[in-house]
Amino acid sequence: MQWETVIGLEVHVQLATRSKIFSGASTAFGAEPNTQACAVDLGLPGVLPVLNEQAVAMAVQFGLGIHAEIPEVSVFDRKNYFYPDLPKGYQTSQMYEPIVGPGEVEILLDDGESKRIRVHHAHLEEDAGKSLHEDFHGMTGIDLNRAGTPLLEIVSEPDMRSAKEAAAYLKAIHSIVTYLGISDGNMAEGSMRCDVNVSVRPKGQEAFGTRAEIKNVNSFRFVERAIEFEVERQIELLEDGGKVVQETRLYDPEADETRSMRTKEEANDYRYFPCPDLLPVVLDQAYVDHLRGNLPELPAAKRERFQSELGLSAYDAGVLSASRAMAEYFERVHEVCGDAKQAANWVQGELSGALNREGLAIADSPVSADQLGGLIVRVIDDTINGKAAKQVFQALWNGEGGSENNSADAIIDAKGLKQVTDTGAIEAMIDQVIADSPAQVAQYRDAEPDKRGKMIGYFVGQVMKASRGTANPQQVNKLLKEKLDALC
Ligand code: ADP
Ligand code: MG
Repeated sequence: MQWETVIGLEVHVQLATRSKIFSGASTAFGAEPNTQACAVDLGLPGVLPVLNEQAVAMAVQFGLGIHAEIPEVSVFDRKNYFYPDLPKGYQTSQMYEPIVGPGEVEILLDDGESKRIRVHHAHLEEDAGKSLHEDFHGMTGIDLNRAGTPLLEIVSEPDMRSAKEAAAYLKAIHSIVTYLGISDGNMAEGSMRCDVNVSVRPKGQEAFGTRAEIKNVNSFRFVERAIEFEVERQIELLEDGGKVVQETRLYDPEADETRSMRTKEEANDYRYFPCPDLLPVVLDQAYVDHLRGNLPELPAAKRERFQSELGLSAYDAGVLSASRAMAEYFERVHEVCGDAKQAANWVQGELSGALNREGLAIADSPVSADQLGGLIVRVIDDTINGKAAKQVFQALWNGEGGSENNSADAIIDAKGLKQVTDTGAIEAMIDQVIADSPAQVAQYRDAEPDKRGKMIGYFVGQVMKASRGTANPQQVNKLLKEKLDALC
């Protein structure tokens, strides 16, 4: 039997507002426990929430970024449940009239194809506090700093058909929210996490199978692994004649498996009702249009432009537009050196390689975009050859260039890396090498003409060494061949 996987994601994005969604308390990460929750966040008697306009603006920007309908009116509801990290006894959320209506997100797949994933809606809500189990013996600590932090929950349609597609969707959302600057997207700190809904059905069947919901997965890799495990579990269960039950599961990265948390029978009845303390949010057209007019260029548009205007391949355009920091770096390198292909190669090759080795983000690159652009200029105008360029890059990386924009030039001068293109100088080095290598010259002469091409490598190496790597390799090759062939 052939099975098909069906996946829908509910992504929670922490919005980068300075204060909470309904109070003036700070949202900064990492403060001492319980120093950033105020009476409103705790829902103490007599307090009234005030909606943070910035959170509204950010939600609308996201909606515009995914070409969604933005309804004129949205409403906050109370989702009632008891949990120690929710002292109010209810979470303020949007159940029936969310701030962002249906939209769509384009994802990029490995084969270069793209696919549209529909977004059902996105709504605003507040985060709860955190339970801390580690530092307390037989007890649980509660840190309420996170209570009241604004979240945008983005609910997809069940349009994904593999773990790879789900990860690509999550990456696309990450890229959109970080381009918009509405979230720092830091998954390790919990700024983005998702609930993964997974089911399987026999290939060709229209009706969806029963789904399991895996809660709170917080990395791209874990999303893929959790889905892979879950799909296998469900298929095995069904093939053994069993039934998938609708339930909430948890992914355990150490054991690399999902485990049942609660089944549908144990599910809460949240008794949603409109929050009597908050007015419906009414957006006038001018407000939405103003936000629309100020949207930055988003990843999909940038990717298109990198292909159509700069002539980059679909792959290069995808990699270079994936994060805003990467795109801005690349665009600056291109601006300085004027050659998109070279800029793309250097950013994805030498630079990304070095960043990966050191585990650095592009924002922390020791080589600035201006410096890299300046280096490429000297490759393009033949001042240095490819080998010297790598040396200059390494020196820039080590901070030898200072912070001047022409620091590549300073290194080229200081290290004497300027390429030797003077034919006379190269010929003199070649003559010396030929004179010093009688045995190799004899071998060359005795070899069949079609074997000689390979043997020239030895001489090229010697000449390059004599020039300390600065001779122009194309000229060395050409002149050597002429001189050696003249001896045959
Ligand atoms: P609920 O009301 O229980 O939260 P929703 O209909 O809102 O359920 O769906 C929640 C998420 O689950 C959505 O992202 C949706 O795409 C996804 N989903 C719904 N049904 C399935 C299914 N059979 N298989 C996989 N995902 C599903
Ligand atoms: Mg839901």
